[in-house]
Amino acid sequence: MLIDLHSHTTASDGQLTPTELVNRAANRQVNILAITDHDTVDGLQEAQDAIDEKGLKLTLIKGIEVTTNWLNHEIHVVGVNIDPDNVQLAALIELQKEKREARAIEMGNRLAKANIEGVYEGAKALAGKGAITRAHFARYMVEQGIAPTFQKVFDKYLSRGNTGYVPHNWVDIDQAIEAIHQAGGQAILAHPNHYDLSNKWMRRLFTEFKEAGGDAMEVAMGQQSPQVRLQLAMWSEEYDLLASQGSDFHFVGRWRDLGKALHLPAMAKPLWLDWPIYNNLLEAENT
Ligand code: AMP
Ligand code: MN
Ligand code: MN
Ligand code: MN
Repeated sequence: MLIDLHSHTTASDGQLTPTELVNRAANRQVNILAITDHDTVDGLQEAQDAIDEKGLKLTLIKGIEVTTNWLNHEIHVVGVNIDPDNVQLAALIELQKEKREARAIEMGNRLAKANIEGVYEGAKALAGKGAITRAHFARYMVEQGIAPTFQKVFDKYLSRGNTGYVPHNWVDIDQAIEAIHQAGGQAILAHPNHYDLSNKWMRRLFTEFKEAGGDAMEVAMGQQSPQVRLQLAMWSEEYDLLASQGSDFHFVGRWRDLGKALHLPAMAKPLWLDWPIYNNLLEAENT
């Protein structure tokens, strides 16, 4: 059974529409897919409608990826099985939306002071009605020839300490977990090894995430060495966090794809073992 609990659409910085995304997932034989856009749930309805209209053999898990501030690090918390209409969650989303918009404008101002004009407007046009992210800035700046690659834009302009970087003030981890729980979901610490934290800090993060009521952590991602995957699985066990997996798919590329290379080490305790949808599918597979 193919399970992918982390993916993006044009509702944030993904490049496929929700309709395109679920079609791709179904074509790739994914059985269970969570859409987890940055600080928004706007892609979920279109995705479910597309599944229903086409009768796709795919179960959509309603999700979100909340950007949080933890001791001045930007930590991502994925929520799955959320009720997108929950009022507490909606309030958190509204708050994050305002923060995103204000940050984007400020990023544009800072770049303009360095004589790089019009980037906010360009990024905004790429984001359309979706949540505006640094990925939109990066795409626009590559299109404009301001830097040769996506990665170089981040390195030169958008990461901490650079011209276009604006110190963040996202909600904190506790607020994110609380809102996800209020909405009936489970909170997953996203890609723990992508934050450039030392093992000591990583351990502190696991401890505090667990204390804040966090349910799980991502263990399997598409592109990842077996050693890293095993280390994450051991930490998930040590800190009593369930294990999750997801591609973090944003666009069609060479290496990363929906459902690709996702499986947990045997010792890991999967987050979905008691989900009715998982057990129903398992039963159907076995009969
Ligand atoms: P934001 O939430 O607006 O800060 O944007 C974060 C998004 O930008 C991430 O989800 C990635 O898709 C992308 N991103 C962030 N940092 C990098 C990086 N160093 N290289 C490439 N993409 C990045
Ligand atoms: Mn992203
Ligand atoms: Mn993330
Ligand atoms: Mn993501």
